[in-house]
Amino acid sequence: MRTTQKTAAKATQCFFCSQNYKDIDYKDVPLLRRFISSQGKIVDPQHTSTCAKHQRALAQAIKRARFLGLLSYVKKY
Ligand SMILES: [Zn+2]
Repeated sequence: MRTTQKTAAKATQCFFCSQNYKDIDYKDVPLLRRFISSQGKIVDPQHTSTCAKHQRALAQAIKRARFLGLLSYVKKY
């Protein structure tokens, strides 16, 4: 019986790895906005294909930005 080969479904790399980001700036609001949903939630890393290391840094940056009022905690009406 032939073994089925795993297809390369996710060839996309982490955005921050590909751009050689060392640390994510919490003041870079337009960048952080790309990783939050329309409701203001942090988007699932499987959806954005962000690696675990950068997802942790990103979550921390988003939380800092929220605390400083640069990003919203909840959806604005
Ligand atoms: Zn990464």
